[in-house]
Amino acid sequence: MNPISETTEIPVGISACVMGEEVRFNGGHSQSRLCRNQLASHFKYQTFCPEVAAGFGIPRPTMRLIGDPAKPTLIFSKTADDAPVKDLTEQLTAACQPMLQRCHDLDGFILKKDSPSCGMERVKVYQASGHPHTDRSAGLFARALMDQYPNLPIEEDGRLNDAQLRENFVMRVFAHHHFRKEVLEQPSFHHLLQFHSSYKYLLMAHDQVAYRELGKMLAVAHNEPLAPLISRYFDQFMTAINKPASRGSHCNVMQHIMGYLKQSVDSTARQAILTVFEQYRLGEVNLITPMTLLSHYINQNGSDYIRAQRYLEPYPAHLGLRNQV
Ligand code: SF4
Repeated sequence: MNPISETTEIPVGISACVMGEEVRFNGGHSQSRLCRNQLASHFKYQTFCPEVAAGFGIPRPTMRLIGDPAKPTLIFSKTADDAPVKDLTEQLTAACQPMLQRCHDLDGFILKKDSPSCGMERVKVYQASGHPHTDRSAGLFARALMDQYPNLPIEEDGRLNDAQLRENFVMRVFAHHHFRKEVLEQPSFHHLLQFHSSYKYLLMAHDQVAYRELGKMLAVAHNEPLAPLISRYFDQFMTAINKPASRGSHCNVMQHIMGYLKQSVDSTARQAILTVFEQYRLGEVNLITPMTLLSHYINQNGSDYIRAQRYLEPYPAHLGLRNQV
């Protein structure tokens, strides 16, 4: 297992305007300081603007989606009264293809919310009456990205302001990166087992059922063809860690990990640690508090196996994400 180093740089795609590039319809940007400052210390961004790639220019008329929310059409929002409405869907989707090919080498994507090209969800689709449908959609590039890369962690800039969603997204980006480097780029059953072993407790925190099923899958899989096995594992793994981990499930996992300290930590210290777990469960402290305490004892007294658990440090601690959840 490769440790997380302070210099690990993870390739992540991002809507160009979110990085501060002046590519919006009005020549402005929608810069996210969180993305540019805090996350940029580990994310090596590849920016992309679908509408500029499609040659619509800067500035350009505003665009919107119309028609069936399940298969919307992109048009300019306003056309001269007697001018025919021009369908821009093909022009935009064709221009996205080269970027979509390059996304094989990415570990995440941050999209601009509400955009008919980049929005991940809740994008308005207008009816002929001019009113939006109740059903919302994804922007055309976002839809193609999600369809082609169902395991790629994808989030919107606005949603990243929520501490829980931000923590979950960054954790998934690092997990995706580890899987790509440690399993997909050097596929073997042994590497898959090693990966699974290092993520066991993180999986347990997010989805107990998937934790058991993935364990069972690997226990009987040594004679299975490797490529479909890896693919099946990756699908289920990424789906499982996308689920939020509750305070209760974190406490459950931390108590399991405490089991490794039975012989080496006396009962008074153990009781003090369990008290902090309870404070976390009740919402009196954030996750960083019990995790710091637990990691301290695991680093001193834990076996190689337990110290190698990604659950203890799923991403660099200095990102401060566990301070806020
Ligand atoms: S939301 Fe997407 S299409 Fe619109 S300006 Fe930003 S990057 Fe370009």
